[in-house]
Amino acid sequence: MRAWAHFKTITHHRKLVREGCFRVGLYRQGLTHDLSKYFPSEFLIGAKYFQGTRSPNNAEREDIGYSSAWLHHKGRNKHHYEYWIDYSLHAPEPGGMLPCPMPDRYIAEMIMDRIAACKTYQGDTYTDKSPWEYYLEGKDPAPLHPYTRKNLEFFLRMLAEKGEEETFDYIKNVFLKKERKLLPHFDFRKRKKGFGRKNFKLRKYIEISERKDKKIDRR
Ligand SMILES: [Zn+2]
Repeated sequence: MRAWAHFKTITHHRKLVREGCFRVGLYRQGLTHDLSKYFPSEFLIGAKYFQGTRSPNNAEREDIGYSSAWLHHKGRNKHHYEYWIDYSLHAPEPGGMLPCPMPDRYIAEMIMDRIAACKTYQGDTYTDKSPWEYYLEGKDPAPLHPYTRKNLEFFLRMLAEKGEEETFDYIKNVFLKKERKLLPHFDFRKRKKGFGRKNFKLRKYIEISERKDKKIDRR
């Protein structure tokens, strides 16, 4: 049982996320991020499986086959895409998992969470590219809504290429300010409203840029 070490890890992680959230104007989320990790159902498990170099949830999974701490956590914390999974009534998979779009402010918090987790576990080897590389390692299986995926990838890549200053500034002043008629932020929810010429153009833009991305990836 390493309760004190686990307590320090959680508290340090929360501090990093809080700093990130404050930089993009998300004060309430910065203060309340991951508070459920102090609940006994998460804290005691975390302390029992504490390792320091990776999430204790994986150690619990290795031990009993699943992580009870994670089940408790993801159902209460909106910055995890797993919180936003419903089940589907329709084809292709009736009863299957249905990812729903995450609200922008939780997408922003998720990005801060990923940055903080990489910083904690990678220490001195962390760079602005780390969150994007970590994402790529686990990319395919993640059941993300296209809107969530598009934004998450956009910001992780922006961070890798342009650094924190510019990325956080964009999140705060463009992404969270709803001045997003400008490319490349295509709001997928607008699709429902119709198939106007403007939406058609935006869709084309996204398709073309995705094709370019794929070409770059293949190289
Ligand atoms: Zn969390």
